[in-house]
Amino acid sequence: MAGLVLQNIIKDFGSTKVIKDVSLTINDGEFVVFVGPSGCGKSTLLRLIAGLEDISEGTIRIGDRVVNDLEPKDRSIAMVFQSYALFPHMNVRDNIAFGLKIAGTPLVEMNAKVNEAARMLAMEDLLDRKPSQLSGGQRQRVAIGRAIVRNPEVFLFDEPLSNLDAALRVSTRAEIAKLHKDLGATMVYVTHDQVEAMTLADRIVVLEKGEVRQFGSPMELYHHPQNQFVAGFIGSPKMNFLAVDCSAATKNSVTVQSKSIPSLTLPVAGEGIEPKQPMTLGIRPEHIARATGQGIAATIELVERLGHETFVRAQLNNGETLVALLDGADRAKRGDAISFAFKPDACHVFDDHGQALRRLSAPDFSGLEK
Ligand code: ADP
Ligand code: MG
Repeated sequence: MAGLVLQNIIKDFGSTKVIKDVSLTINDGEFVVFVGPSGCGKSTLLRLIAGLEDISEGTIRIGDRVVNDLEPKDRSIAMVFQSYALFPHMNVRDNIAFGLKIAGTPLVEMNAKVNEAARMLAMEDLLDRKPSQLSGGQRQRVAIGRAIVRNPEVFLFDEPLSNLDAALRVSTRAEIAKLHKDLGATMVYVTHDQVEAMTLADRIVVLEKGEVRQFGSPMELYHHPQNQFVAGFIGSPKMNFLAVDCSAATKNSVTVQSKSIPSLTLPVAGEGIEPKQPMTLGIRPEHIARATGQGIAATIELVERLGHETFVRAQLNNGETLVALLDGADRAKRGDAISFAFKPDACHVFDDHGQALRRLSAPDFSGLEK
């Protein structure tokens, strides 16, 4: 098995720079997810690791080998794509065995490997079927089986669940997590779906425009986003951002307010912050409640009831909107006046470059990682 090191990777397509100086160290056996909006370079980065594209600059190491100049087949990787790319005329067994057959693997060994992969993926009873006789989820399992039998050091997945319906996505996601535990292999997984990223990853790489915005565990990203991009990307519905002015800053607090928000002192590292500086206050919908006393006044614009919870979109006095997650039994209705409260230690503060000030009272999840 092997870890993976990307060092100052740059990829240009003609005059457009698609990957801009990415450096990452992925540990042996780690499950790392690349996440980011469409077009940010996730697939390109994965294809560079696989050797399906050549890097323009930088170094890629798999284990202790520099693989820059190695063919995909010599890199000890296996890749699973969104489209399963199965041979329609072959049954499942032959589809899984195809690569081994080409490599001249002896029949007994080949059968043993296929049977073992089928057992891991719980599809022993499907081996004689053709792809057309399988559901989407089963087809994707065949594609994963084809990767397993190659016994790669690194598995690469590019949006493998995107073609599946919601229920199958959830169950196949759980199977991939189990597979990672069973095999203990290094896995790099691309998705635009932050729930997949949060649930599967040991660590997540958030990409924007070909650059790494943050690389950390799911809980680090949720509780300590380093910038406004990550803060807005991780979490659904997304974090609310409100324009505020800073009136005081110390080593361990910042005081902010706006036309809509009464003065609020927040436990963040405010060293070097000039009072009067415009800032952004970030607060997640799940950290907002109805105020019991005086709060932030707003008018409800939209109510979405999901049964167990209710989302409310409301307009503040200054025209900004806020989304709050309220109890499923809340009787909010459109047009009503409402008053919100949130705890200072649930707030995030970003400077005028979108960089987060360090939160000093966020919960500590160390030791509770996957
Ligand atoms: P993602 O997988 O994050 O959606 P991609 O890695 O597929 O994004 O693409 C990143 C950017 O690179 C996009 O703007 C895309 O148009 C561009 N791109 C990808 N492949 C090529 C190519 N072969 N030639 C030119 N541009 C490309
Ligand atoms: Mg892609």
